[in-house]
Amino acid sequence: MTLTKTVCPYCGVGCGVLAGADGTIKGDPDHPANFGRLCSKGTALSETIDLEGRLLAPKVHGVDTDWDTALDLVASKFSEAIRDHGPDSVAFYVSGQLLTEDYYVANKLMKGFIGSANIDTNSRLCMASSVAGHKRAFGSDTVPGIYEDLEDADLIVLVGSNLAWCHPVLHQRIAAAKTARPDMKVVNIDPRRTATTDLADVHLRVAPDGDVALFNGLLTYLAETKNLDHAYLDAHVAGAREAIELAAQTDPSQSGLSPEGLAQFYALWAGTPKVVTVYSQGVNQSTSGTDKVNAIINCHLATGRIGKAGCGPFSVTGQPNAMGGREVGGMANMLANHLDIENAGHRDAVQGFWASPTICTSAGLKAIDLFQACAAGKIKALWIISTNPAVSMPDAKAVAAAIANVPFVAVSDIMARTDTGDLSDVLLPATGWGEKDGTVTNSERRISRQRAFLPRPEMARPDWKIICDVAQKMGWGDAFSYRSAAEVFAEYVALSAATRDFGRDLDLSIFADADYADLIPTQWPNNKRFFANGGFFHPDGKARMIAVTPPVAVPSEGLTLNTGRNRDQWHTMTRTGKAPRLGAHLAEPYAEMHPDDATAMGVGYGDLVAVKSLHGDVILRALITDRATKGQVFAPMHWTGQQAASGKINQLITSNVDPISGQPALKTGSIVARRF
Ligand code: SF4
Repeated sequence: MTLTKTVCPYCGVGCGVLAGADGTIKGDPDHPANFGRLCSKGTALSETIDLEGRLLAPKVHGVDTDWDTALDLVASKFSEAIRDHGPDSVAFYVSGQLLTEDYYVANKLMKGFIGSANIDTNSRLCMASSVAGHKRAFGSDTVPGIYEDLEDADLIVLVGSNLAWCHPVLHQRIAAAKTARPDMKVVNIDPRRTATTDLADVHLRVAPDGDVALFNGLLTYLAETKNLDHAYLDAHVAGAREAIELAAQTDPSQSGLSPEGLAQFYALWAGTPKVVTVYSQGVNQSTSGTDKVNAIINCHLATGRIGKAGCGPFSVTGQPNAMGGREVGGMANMLANHLDIENAGHRDAVQGFWASPTICTSAGLKAIDLFQACAAGKIKALWIISTNPAVSMPDAKAVAAAIANVPFVAVSDIMARTDTGDLSDVLLPATGWGEKDGTVTNSERRISRQRAFLPRPEMARPDWKIICDVAQKMGWGDAFSYRSAAEVFAEYVALSAATRDFGRDLDLSIFADADYADLIPTQWPNNKRFFANGGFFHPDGKARMIAVTPPVAVPSEGLTLNTGRNRDQWHTMTRTGKAPRLGAHLAEPYAEMHPDDATAMGVGYGDLVAVKSLHGDVILRALITDRATKGQVFAPMHWTGQQAASGKINQLITSNVDPISGQPALKTGSIVARRF
């Protein structure tokens, strides 16, 4: 059996997979992300690729139709809305599940041809705060490090990251490195004890959103104990004095940690030259997410612990192609190829390259604003591609109502029934993993090929092709006449070359002569770290330390909800929900709670608990454990209206956002709970 080299479609680790049409799935020993390893989700991929439940023909109002009828309807509804209400009356909501080529053409259609920037993505829910933090600090959305740094470090600090469940192969790499070098230390900063904590030498139960106080306290400690790298600061960093002065006004106890815990962590960090700080959704999904990112980066800049082997801040992305999406500008506040909407020179260059009739001139609606505009009747035509916002967005019930309020909704998906698809006028069948070709970028800037190894089912089409088909029917055929994903990728690389003089981080020259069919996993700009010797992307070439203050704590009368993921499920379970062995891990929605809270409620292990917020209510199975912190309840976000009406967690969360990044604060909420 010939096996095809492809990439796992789940998390941002981006593991290489060898896959066969007979159901063979193996880790690719040659892929530099995983060297043959796979986690439980990756191993079970063959159980998720059957055609049961698949959308196999276009549908208009639930009735099968042909492609021409469906595409004509989508194109005419979008064209009518643009004609009658202007370009900002339409919107796309896309996905970090899309391949880079899909993202590229969707962004090109909306920004260069429709003339609006109303294209946002579920990546807004994943890492927008890291993007904003990177841009403030570095002048660019640059991940400085590479995965090898996790093995070279002497101290790994995991902040707001249950790596063992959410990025398991990176966790395995760290665990192997720690076994080989037992002196290597791991600190886990998380409000609850998780599987990741088992690997840690130190667990700090930080208060929800206590991270800025924690890292401001670290910066103060580094300054007071003369652990700053003044040579690096003088040569490469601006804003240090202001950031250090403001940090000194922070009371580190606002982190919720004891003086002993803080002292232990600060001494360990200061005394270890090679530190990597890994952060994920516990940092990003917060009203202070961007400030948290900058509080972390400040400590690395202040000590020159960046850009060297085993050093640096490291954002790990949740989705398989959140990085590729932001590279091609698939968010409402970005232009293609790490160029800026606000920069007239950048806009002119992109418009000239695309030979497009127009170009958006300002940022569009970010996810929360986009669905609020739907609710307000401002969006007349909406296209949701490869994502399920009626479940995954905060205040999910209100989002479902907002989608239902849009006069015309198209949904592209691989599944026939999803909470969001059920709200559509037109359903467009997309090809899924194993059936489509393209590229993804993982958390260390490595671009890998996803390759088809299964036949394309019935009428399904790749997302890039569906988007181009609609663009052609809207009258822009010449600009969207690609015959393959390879041609889209070639244009993306050519745009990078055409705009190289703008001098940003995204340089794809390494792919200029690449053979797309045989493309091996490759990092851009090449296999190197950024910023060891400065070279930041602010106009003066220096990084910025950003003065940040902790958020004002909002007192809660009830319990604090902490949301997250299970080890064996992905997003809203449309694929992983098919694999019995994955369902066997944690089979139903649950509330992980501290024994004292359970006792106060009169709840026993396995009892049902009614959990309520201002926005909705769910019923969960009580899982009583001292892994939970008293006063906090953890619940996973995977269950949908399709699977268990009682478990749709994100409907409990308020639509608060980080004011800088627009990322929703999905991690926490206020709830009351009682025995059901
Ligand atoms: Fe897939 Fe992530 Fe698991 Fe790797 S770690 S196999 S990319 S889910």
